Amino acid sequence: MTQSVVGRKIWVRGIVQGVGFRPFIYSLAARCQCTGWVRNTSSGVEIEINGTAEMIAAFEREVRQNPPPLAQIDAVESQPAPVNGYTNFVILSSQPREGDFLPVSPDVTICPDCRRELFNPADRRYRYPFINCTNCGPRFSIIRDIPYDRPKTSMAGFALCPDCQREYDNPLDRRFHAQPVACPACGPQVWFESQGQRLAECDAAIQQARQWLAQGKILAIKGLGGYHLACDAANPSAVEELRRRKKRSDKPFALMAFDLPAVECHCLVSAAERDLLESPQHPIVLLERKAESAVYGGCAPGQRTLGVMLPYTPLHLLLLEPTPGFPDMLVMTSGNLSEEPIAYEDADAKERLTPLVDGFLLHDRPIHIRVDDSVVSVAQGAPYLARRARGYAPNPVRLPLSTPRVLAAGAELKNTFCLTRDNYAFLSHHIGDLENYETLRSFEEGVQHFQRLFRVQPERIACDLHPNYLASRYARQRAQDEGLPLVEVQHHHAHLAAVLADNGWDSDEPVIGFCFDGTGYGTDGAIWGGEVLYGGYTGYQRFYHLRYVPLPGGDLAVRKPGRAALAHLTAAGLDWAAEYPAVENFCAEDRTAIRAQINLQLNAPLTSSMGRLFDAAAALIGVCQTATYEGQPAIELEALADREEMGYYPMQFTATEIDPALFWTALLDDWRAGVTTPRLAARVHNSIVRMVFETAGAVRQRTGCATAALSGGVWQNRLLLERSTRLLEQAGFIVLRHHQVPTNDGGVALGQALIAARMDIPAANLG
Ligand code: ZN
Ligand code: ZN
Ligand code: FE
Repeated sequence: MTQSVVGRKIWVRGIVQGVGFRPFIYSLAARCQCTGWVRNTSSGVEIEINGTAEMIAAFEREVRQNPPPLAQIDAVESQPAPVNGYTNFVILSSQPREGDFLPVSPDVTICPDCRRELFNPADRRYRYPFINCTNCGPRFSIIRDIPYDRPKTSMAGFALCPDCQREYDNPLDRRFHAQPVACPACGPQVWFESQGQRLAECDAAIQQARQWLAQGKILAIKGLGGYHLACDAANPSAVEELRRRKKRSDKPFALMAFDLPAVECHCLVSAAERDLLESPQHPIVLLERKAESAVYGGCAPGQRTLGVMLPYTPLHLLLLEPTPGFPDMLVMTSGNLSEEPIAYEDADAKERLTPLVDGFLLHDRPIHIRVDDSVVSVAQGAPYLARRARGYAPNPVRLPLSTPRVLAAGAELKNTFCLTRDNYAFLSHHIGDLENYETLRSFEEGVQHFQRLFRVQPERIACDLHPNYLASRYARQRAQDEGLPLVEVQHHHAHLAAVLADNGWDSDEPVIGFCFDGTGYGTDGAIWGGEVLYGGYTGYQRFYHLRYVPLPGGDLAVRKPGRAALAHLTAAGLDWAAEYPAVENFCAEDRTAIRAQINLQLNAPLTSSMGRLFDAAAALIGVCQTATYEGQPAIELEALADREEMGYYPMQFTATEIDPALFWTALLDDWRAGVTTPRLAARVHNSIVRMVFETAGAVRQRTGCATAALSGGVWQNRLLLERSTRLLEQAGFIVLRHHQVPTNDGGVALGQALIAARMDIPAANLG
C-alpha cells in the first residue's frame, strides 16, 4: 500500500549559511526519501519538499533537533504547499531579496575532521596551514558582503583547483560550498621573513619560526583576525624584551598551548573551564595558575590567573606542535604597540611591528576585518565574558522585545557598538579604547561594515551622555547630518539596561541595579561609578551612590591610585599618616599640591566611583601604587584576597549616600594592628558585598522589588560577584548578571540600544 505524496514549504532562519546546512538538508531529504529543493535566501534557507506526511514530519523534526554543529536555528516555519513534481532533491542557486538580512557566522576553530587530515600524511592537505571545511574556518574576518559567497570574501583572489572545485560542487562532500576551501595547490601560502628578506616558505617557514621561538626570539605571526606577537612563555629575557618593545609593563600576556594536557601542566582546569577552552570559540580562558608552572611570572605579574587559549587555526597547531625542546606554552599577545588597535593590514602591520620583532611568519590570505581574541572566565559555573570578539561576534544577541533600527555608539574604553533590528542586537566585536585616530577609524569602518552586512539603516541613534567621548561625537554628528533622533544615555543606566537585555528581560518593570565601575558621566556633571539605581529600560532613579570625593588630578589619579586614597582619607576626616604606604609614596611637594587640589577642588572632579574606592584601598594597604592598565589595583587586590576570611567593615548609608568613613577607619586600624594583606584585601571585598546586601534590602523595603542586577566593570571581580550573589540569593533576591556580553563597557552599547528603542519619540521627530 502506498501512502499519498504531499507537499510542504519550510523556512529556516538563524545562522544557516556557511555552516554546511544545505548539504545537511540534501542528505536528510535523501534519507527521508523526499524530493524537492533547497536554496539560500538573504534571510535564511527555503525548502520545498514532497513525500509522505510521515516522512516529511520526520524530516522537519530532524531539522529542528539535529542541525549541523555550527548552525544556530532561530525559527522554523512551515506550511502546506502543492506537490511540485520534482523527481529528486536538488540544491537551487541563492535567491537574495532586497533589504533582507542574515546573521553571519563568527570565525570557527578548526574542526576534528580537518585536524585529523592536517596530521595525516596520506591526505592531500597534509600539514597545509589553511585547511578548512563547511564546519570550520574563517568567516566573519574574511567576509565583505552577503549572501556569503566566495567572490564576496577575501578568498576571491584564489581560484579553485579542479580537486577543490569538485569538493566544492559535491553536495555530499564536507567542503560543499565551503567558501574558504583551499589546498596547497590553489590556496594561500605562508612564508617567513626577517628584515625584509624572505627566508623560507611553506612548511620550512613554520619550522624556521619554531626554531627562532625556541631560541628566545620574538616573532609577529599573521593569524585569523590579526597579528600576534609571540615568544617562549618560559623564557624570562624573551618575555621582558617583548614587554620593553611593546611598551607594556604589567598587563598580562595571553598564552597558547598545543592541547589540554599542556595547559594542565601550568593551570588548574575545572570541567567548565575545559569545555570553554575546547568550545568552538576557543577563547582565552582565565585559569588559576599552578605554583609549579614553568611559565615565567612576568607573563602575568600580580595575578593568580593565566589567560590561556588552545590553537584555533591549523597554522597555530603546526606552530605549537609538541617536539622535544620546543616550548609547551607561547606568549601570543595582540600584535600592536600598547594602546593601538591590533594590526591586520599587511603594509600597516609590517611598518608598525618591524621595530617590535625579530621576524615575521606571514601569509597571503587578506584579513577583511580585524578581530581580537575573546577573553572569558568561568564564574558560578558559566562563561563570563571580559572581551567579546573572535568566535562570538557577530553572533546577534536575541532580544526579548522587537526594536526599531537603532545604532548605539557605545562607550570610550573597551568600545563596542550595536545595531538592532527586529529581535536582534548585532553587538560588534571588541573595537578597543577610542582614544586615538587609529581606533576611531576602525570604529567608523566597523559601523559601516555592520550596517551593510546586516542591512540596518538606523532610524535613531544612541550614545553616552559624556560630552567628549569620540563615539558620542560621532553619534551626534551622524544624528545631525542624517536628521535622526538622538538619545543620550547615562552610562550606568546603559549598564543596567544591558544586563536586563542580556537576561532576556522582556518588560519595562524596574529592578535594583548595582552599577559599579570606574568612570561614567553623571547627569550632574560628576563622575559616577558606585551607583545603586532603581529602574528599567524606560527610566531610572538614583537611590544610593557612594559619597562624592574630589579626585585630585582627575585622570592622573587613575594611574596613581594613591591619589584616590588621599581623597578618601580626607573625606573620612582621617589624617595622612606618614607611615601609610599610599602617603609615603608621594614626596612632600606632591602632598602639598594634592591637598590644595582637594581643598580648593582644583582639577579635582567629584566622583562616586567604585573603581576609585578599590584603587584607594589597594594603595592604602600597599598593594599597588601605579596602575599601568585599567583596573590593575582592583585586580591585584582580588588576586591577593584570602578566600577563607569572612570579616568585613561597616559602611553607613543616609537617604541617598553610602559613606565609607567607618570602613576606612576600621581598615587602617587593622593595618596598623598588623593584619596580613591577604586578610585585609578579603575584608575590603566583603565590606562591599555587605554594603550591596544592605542597600538591596533598603530598596526592597521602599519598592517591594526583589530582583537585583549586577553590571559595570567592577563586577569582573569574581570574588565580589560570587559573594554578592550568594548573600543576595540567601536573602530571597533574584540576581541577574551578564552571560552573553561583557559586564564592562564592552556591554554598554547593548543597553544604550535598548533604552533608545524603548523611548517614546514623537512621530514628528522620526526621520
Ligand atoms: Zn573542518
Ligand atoms: Zn585546491
Ligand atoms: Fe562603565
